[in-house]
Amino acid sequence: MIPLQQEDLGAAYYSLQREEILDRIGARISELRDNILILCHHYQNQDLFQFADLAGDSLKLAREAAAVSDREFLIFCGVHFMAESADILARAQQKVLLPHLHAGCPMADMATLGAVEQAYKELLSVGIMAEEADMVPVTYVNSSAAIKAFVGKREGSVCTSSNGEKVLAWALDKGSRVFFFPDEHLGRNSASALGVPEEQVLLWRRGELLGGNSVEQLQQAKILLWDGYCEVHMRFLPDHIRQWRLQEPDIQVIVHPECVHDVVSIADQYGSTEAIISAVKNSPAGSKWAVGTEINLVQRLQLQHPDKEIHLLAPSSCLCTTMDCNQPVNLLWLLDNLAAGKVKNQISVEPEIAALAARSLEQMLAIA
Ligand code: SF4
Repeated sequence: MIPLQQEDLGAAYYSLQREEILDRIGARISELRDNILILCHHYQNQDLFQFADLAGDSLKLAREAAAVSDREFLIFCGVHFMAESADILARAQQKVLLPHLHAGCPMADMATLGAVEQAYKELLSVGIMAEEADMVPVTYVNSSAAIKAFVGKREGSVCTSSNGEKVLAWALDKGSRVFFFPDEHLGRNSASALGVPEEQVLLWRRGELLGGNSVEQLQQAKILLWDGYCEVHMRFLPDHIRQWRLQEPDIQVIVHPECVHDVVSIADQYGSTEAIISAVKNSPAGSKWAVGTEINLVQRLQLQHPDKEIHLLAPSSCLCTTMDCNQPVNLLWLLDNLAAGKVKNQISVEPEIAALAARSLEQMLAIA
């Protein structure tokens, strides 16, 4: 959950023209150059993306930023959990700033610490776990620092969209059962790729006693999936793939593993944002692609590869609206304040939470 309200920028900022905003950002960056690093996620709009010192997926950005020791301010053009990860991995003297505090991830917010702790209590009360160590928790990197800390404390691991299968295989090897947070679909797609039978993969529905399952069902399950989802990737449907194949028989369909299993299972390929970028980049000129991921990344691929035909898989725009709360005007406001010696929108994780969350991130690096 995002803990703070975004401060009012003031009417003067909103009356600026786009070009003026971009020019003023450029000037501020030149002025503050030695002290700031601008990080941009692939789903961020192009007006901000053009200012990126580092671009990538959330974890790559957090790790690369931490390796840059001489910049005090890491400005993360992404969402809240990404800024938290950057703060966890950052050096003590570095501060992580988010241009707009409403830039959160609804999927990450679907697994709150209270609800996850309650699920564990219920599983203990009906004997599915004799002790917490009987369940290995795995969390997608798209989760709050509090959930990563919960996982780290119980010797589980974080995973990303590129290593979900590897981490899940490790967790299954380590314990009798796995609880996967917060994305049902990455969990289900990873379990399917590992060949785990469907009847051993059970959905845990938030707000229902025992996640809406019977004790018998829970006893048979190897993997419990929290019922979180990404509202952007949920919009891609199997019918969209069929339509493209009818229209363009030689099109290749590539989707992100946050898409539902019915989509992933009939796509030609699936993979993380980095995997999608590299598949399109390495394809020959004239290739045709239908891409199932966030619209800003698809539009950027179209710009970067004019020799290829690249389409969004769905007919309507699939925008991460929360990440899009970060607009150039917010970056300008942040930079103006920094130039005036004022630090705004700092995202910091409590040291004890950060230490436990770092454990779950380190576990993933050890597995990978
Ligand atoms: S695209 Fe989906 S998972 Fe990614 S930040 Fe946006 S809402 Fe969250």
